[in-house]
Amino acid sequence: MAPNGPDSSSYARRRQALIERLDQAVLFIPARGEALYSNDVHYRYRQDSNIRYLCGFEEPAALLINNCGNEQQGFSLLVNPRDESSETWTGPRAGVEGARDIYGADHAHPLDQCDEILLLHLREAATLHYTYSGDRDQDSRVLELVEKVNSERPRKGIPALTIADARETLAEMRSIKSSDEIRCLRTAAELSVKAHRRLMETLAPGMYEYEVEAILDYGFRSAGCTGPAYPTIAAGGEGATVLHYTRNDRRLAGGDLLLVDAGAEWGGYCADITRTIPVGPSYSAAQAELYDLVLAAQEAALALARPGSSLEAMHQAALEVLCEGLCDLSILEGPANERLADSSYKRFYMHNSSHWLGMDVHDAGVYRENEAPRVLREGMAATVEPGLYISADAEGVDEKYRGIGIRIEDDIVITATGCEILSSELPKTRSEIEALRLQPRRRTAAR
Ligand code: MG
Ligand code: MG
Repeated sequence: MAPNGPDSSSYARRRQALIERLDQAVLFIPARGEALYSNDVHYRYRQDSNIRYLCGFEEPAALLINNCGNEQQGFSLLVNPRDESSETWTGPRAGVEGARDIYGADHAHPLDQCDEILLLHLREAATLHYTYSGDRDQDSRVLELVEKVNSERPRKGIPALTIADARETLAEMRSIKSSDEIRCLRTAAELSVKAHRRLMETLAPGMYEYEVEAILDYGFRSAGCTGPAYPTIAAGGEGATVLHYTRNDRRLAGGDLLLVDAGAEWGGYCADITRTIPVGPSYSAAQAELYDLVLAAQEAALALARPGSSLEAMHQAALEVLCEGLCDLSILEGPANERLADSSYKRFYMHNSSHWLGMDVHDAGVYRENEAPRVLREGMAATVEPGLYISADAEGVDEKYRGIGIRIEDDIVITATGCEILSSELPKTRSEIEALRLQPRRRTAAR
């Protein structure tokens, strides 16, 4: 099972809920291959999130759910069989027996029999729900099997097998988090908050961005998390104006801001938290102006985080505050409502304010349905992360604001009446952060 993840009864409930949606249909999720790092060395294996969601199996495997009422009915896993020689190198496998006995598979087979087993399942199915792997060879093998099944059907008088995109069904299920999923999200956020807080207490001018990354990643792993949920961003100075900066190799100077976007994965669920803190003891006047503006935008978005609202409405609320503030600071020329309408703010704020959060850091789920923003419901999880990024060479912008990048990101779960901010224990206002930044000096002075 995924370490610290939901227990086996949760997986069984999810599979039951899924099977009820499949009428005379088969769902197939192909095995994700091992990703090569270099030559013959692989990355640590990362299970496909949908397979993890349905059974918690952590080794390479393909998954089938069959609701055709025949011999193949139920949950099948295709896995690497036990093999003494391979297990000497890479550790014990659950094998075909373990897939049944530990993971509750109704049927289990060796992974290298995948095509013939899938063909057997498809014989009587009306629909194949498939998750399209993105691997062209894999996807064309599945299409060939569907073609093979369909070539036999006219003579049998059976309608052609159709293919549906299973990612939609699974995304819909995954978008409402159960209590055990919220428990994992909460723990991921709490342990991430501890690591961020440790950084706030220990950061000092002269440190390198990679030391910042190491403090965060050490915090995650030493607390038992699987690791960072995504590559830690530790961006000092103008590096913070690059949205997905991961070089993390520069030395931090006293007057810089440091943008840290880092979150842990716990029990298969992700945290995604950003703070922008001064490398020295406090924010400069210009940094403070921009910081307070981003914070006000985030608060405006959070105020709308409740059932019946939408991520789009929250984003609009953040944009209104940002446009107003950018005009007040003469970074944009007013009136603010026109700058909002003509999107000229995108020069300084070019991403959305939220994304779904769950087993994937950018989790499965649609953002619009029926041509309208998706309505928020209890159990949905997302980030709220407005920012401002003024590049070092931003023409027409006062020198004092250039090279400043700020993002503030928290994780939320929608409750019955509003939202729970999972990362609320991490200091966020300037005064809270500056109080922590002064602590190392106090400790040094006390020695
Ligand atoms: Mg982030
Ligand atoms: Mg994010």
